[in-house]
Amino acid sequence: MAKKPTRLTKKRKRSSCAPKQNEQEIADTNVYEVESICGQSIQGNTIQYEVKWKGYSEDENTSEPEFRLNCDDKIVNYVTDLIDCTNYIEKIPKSIEALDKLKANKKAILEDIAPIAYLAQTTVHGGVVKFAIVDTISNILKYSRYIISSDQLYAMYAAYVPNDEKNENVGNVRKDMEQWQMELDRLQIHFADYPKLKIQVPDTIRSVFYLPPPLSHLLFEPVTEETFEKRKVRMYHFPPKANQLSFHGIQMFIKPSHLDALEQNKFERAKETDRLDFRKSPRFRVPMKLSQHYARGYILTLGEDVEQNTPLMLMAGVIRPQAVANQCLKNDGERVAFSSFIEIPNSNMCLDRREFHDFSKYIPHSCEPTCGVRLVNSGAEFPDLVVYSLHAIDASYSHAITLDYYKMFQKDVKQYFNKNKPSSGKIFSLYDQGIDFLHCQCFMEKCPEVLYIARSKEECTPPLKKKAKTAKNQESLDFGGLKLADSDNTYMIIDGEFEE
Ligand SMILES: [Zn+2]
Repeated sequence: MAKKPTRLTKKRKRSSCAPKQNEQEIADTNVYEVESICGQSIQGNTIQYEVKWKGYSEDENTSEPEFRLNCDDKIVNYVTDLIDCTNYIEKIPKSIEALDKLKANKKAILEDIAPIAYLAQTTVHGGVVKFAIVDTISNILKYSRYIISSDQLYAMYAAYVPNDEKNENVGNVRKDMEQWQMELDRLQIHFADYPKLKIQVPDTIRSVFYLPPPLSHLLFEPVTEETFEKRKVRMYHFPPKANQLSFHGIQMFIKPSHLDALEQNKFERAKETDRLDFRKSPRFRVPMKLSQHYARGYILTLGEDVEQNTPLMLMAGVIRPQAVANQCLKNDGERVAFSSFIEIPNSNMCLDRREFHDFSKYIPHSCEPTCGVRLVNSGAEFPDLVVYSLHAIDASYSHAITLDYYKMFQKDVKQYFNKNKPSSGKIFSLYDQGIDFLHCQCFMEKCPEVLYIARSKEECTPPLKKKAKTAKNQESLDFGGLKLADSDNTYMIIDGEFEE
């Protein structure tokens, strides 16, 4: 894959020495490298990290909000040092009431909740869909509230931080992973249409180990809201909490008795009305691997080479009206909405992946993606969204499965820069104005670097200047989720190949 030369990660801004008036017009377009994060504070309502810059003395450390930093690994280092490995789990608020009690306690938010929420975001979104505006106190509380209220509290526990490598719990991690794989294999017998997936456990369990998604929170095909509402009856789609405990008491697995019952044909597999039965001829035949990466969480890759236009997997979630996504964007903000909802074109419907999701959530972003998304008729009322290979993918691509999640924002980004002529170096003008935006680090030739400019009305006070607000606001968005489908064309998949 063609890549730009590696560049350093961050523009450095000296808060201790404000530029003179006549220099303010000239953006500092130098990029500086973060050596480490060595402290944090709350300024205004925003969490600021104290940055030690490589090649500069400690006197020249500066305070930066998270959105200005492109060094997730350094932040994870800092955050894991900050939490007390022996008791951080007890500090996680287990209910909305417990969370509300912490609202005024900035110390607890800064030292306990923010680090855990940071790790939770990494775990849930796998570095896949990242949106700006996360580092204010109110956003951390908002995000935590969403996690608790959508039955995803496991995300707060999901980064396991061992005391030391000889800790006996580290040994249990391997046993838990073996059992997770075993139960996944058993479950997948009943969802033969879904790609077979293997988890890769790292040889050494270091300072952070990410929990794989609990099987009780996975879907293997899209379901209607009606099925979702009946989940207590059709329990194999939506297993209740398991009796098998794992890290920190997270209930990872579906109840083994459900699998027993399925295997003894005591239950029929719940099937959406009019949906084709793919057990006899599975559409997806490519095995996949799920492996974890420090500061990025889990990433999905192919288990073997594929040809161009190979259907790889379908995206799953609860099929809901797009109005639900728009409401979520207003209530819960960009990070929740854009990582949860995917448009089903021409239908006013979308996949809602707040409570349940599938392994496609672990497909990372690239500005030159290996994969796209097509609409596929599966016999049901709404078409499936199917991830497929845009070209042959083999070891020369590291068997990467990647999607361009941000192409829908490029028009907005261009419009923004047309209206707001940057004085120099467009990306640095955004840093200078304190605008939250997403700075892509995919290093591909075609990478536009600015993926997205935040439109949220949320207050954020950067250290030097008041935040310059973008002209757009949330109301101008026509859909509160991601649009991933290449086109409105609908395909069939026959014998593992697309047909128009
Ligand atoms: Zn990029």
